[in-house]
Amino acid sequence: MSDEKQSSDVGKVYLVGAGPGDPGLITVRGMCLLGGAEVVLYDYLVNPQLLEYASESAEVFCLGQHGRTRIWTQDEINRQMVEFARQGKTVVRLKGGDPAVFGRAAEEVVCLEKAGIPFEIVPGVTAGLAAASYAGIPLTHRDHASAVALVVGRECRDKQGDPLDYAALATFPGTIVMYMGVTTADTWVPALLDAGKPGDTPATIVRRCSFPDQTVTRSTLAELPSLLSHDGKIRPPAIVVLGEVAGMTADDWWFASRPLFGTTVLVTRPIEQAVDLRNQLAELGAGTLVQPTIRITKPDDWSTVDDAIARLADFDWIVFSSSNGVSFFDDRLSDLELDARALGGVKIAAIGPGTAMELARRGLRTDLMPQSYRAEAMAESLSADADGRRFLLIRASRGREVLAEQLTAAGGLVEQVVCYESTDIESPDEEVAKRLAEGKIDWITVTSSAIARSLVRLFGDDLKKARLASISPITTATLTELGHPPAVEASQYTMPGLVQAIVKG
Ligand code: SAH
Repeated sequence: MSDEKQSSDVGKVYLVGAGPGDPGLITVRGMCLLGGAEVVLYDYLVNPQLLEYASESAEVFCLGQHGRTRIWTQDEINRQMVEFARQGKTVVRLKGGDPAVFGRAAEEVVCLEKAGIPFEIVPGVTAGLAAASYAGIPLTHRDHASAVALVVGRECRDKQGDPLDYAALATFPGTIVMYMGVTTADTWVPALLDAGKPGDTPATIVRRCSFPDQTVTRSTLAELPSLLSHDGKIRPPAIVVLGEVAGMTADDWWFASRPLFGTTVLVTRPIEQAVDLRNQLAELGAGTLVQPTIRITKPDDWSTVDDAIARLADFDWIVFSSSNGVSFFDDRLSDLELDARALGGVKIAAIGPGTAMELARRGLRTDLMPQSYRAEAMAESLSADADGRRFLLIRASRGREVLAEQLTAAGGLVEQVVCYESTDIESPDEEVAKRLAEGKIDWITVTSSAIARSLVRLFGDDLKKARLASISPITTATLTELGHPPAVEASQYTMPGLVQAIVKG
């Protein structure tokens, strides 16, 4: 690239491999670049979950999906990359798998070079290699395969004709990994058979490799067209692995043996808190959808909180009933240019481990946590020595009164301050509503009474098409009152406890 072509304020384009689907399979470098990108152009094969790692201010474009949105032509993609870079922007061109494996990276590079745009390429895990790990096909094997060919299927109507040398492929001494081989099976399968490749050669089709709905279908070369091709049962994207190793897949392979594999779980927590629960479920193999049912925001008026903060030293206990309470209260301390020292000798109670963890993250130790993570148990733990003590309860705009009532009854002097507002989400996500109505959601997590109420308002009787998982007896009581008793209830009233309840199902 010649220097004179480059102006100092030109941006840069990174062609980044996103991996085959599981968001965890992007490289660390790819993820860092994504976080810093001003523009993200992503292919339809890329898992949209990865976009959560892009900056909120980034301009994000999906380059289209068959049958859903318009597909950008290669020319349009090239032009846009150049255009954004000329505006001085940092562009991440996020491509499925590896950018250079059937990813048209070469064409994009030529165009960038011509335009004098600096670029870098970050490799990714290509679908064929992921199939080895995620579907249990050893692409190479000491005794059975010493070579691997990555091959692309073409359709007959391809104007340039089929450039593949099927005679050479038919005698290739190793594993053949066929990309884009679904709708093209009518071409390449007969061609390989005609060239002498035995019809009983093991063939395994791995569809949506590394996604929670990955399927692995074992077959033979001769049978492939009936499974694939235009009216076949298996739709793209799929990889076909051909060769002796393709017959070595194990039914109990780790990916499909995870306890929640094959189930879809809807997470209904506020968006900021949904990710952690979603990741715990995904780790166990579940497919996840997120439908926040409530949103958590700052209170409109901080005056009562500020007033209590000004008198913090007068309290004996400050009681947090949620991690949100901790974060909003502590953030308010910071806004007032105060820090943990403002708490002085006040003792801290936390309702459960999630709340205690949020306190710890902010450098605060929990003095008391009840055995059972609920308001009644908290009240009981504090009541023994409540007489004449002053309690500051940090709470949401809606919440239960039981703690305040019991502490007051035990002689405590209780002040409650609202540190965050909880309001209902008004309408459901269309895709989620559709999946639920079609019975395609197996589980719904219900992690508070407010969430239970909002959930019922959003989905009504369609909730009967899934199983509800309740975090605690209080949430269970609310759900039952609303006519939707849960299928399971967590025995530990925490997110991991809820996940365990779903696993035990
Ligand atoms: N650059 C990509 C390949 C793009 S070509 C890579 O390195 O993986 C598109 C083809 O890749 C699809 O037709 C399919 O054959 C394969 N493919 C991509 N992602 C896949 C996935 N998650 N599961 C199975 N096949 C996939």
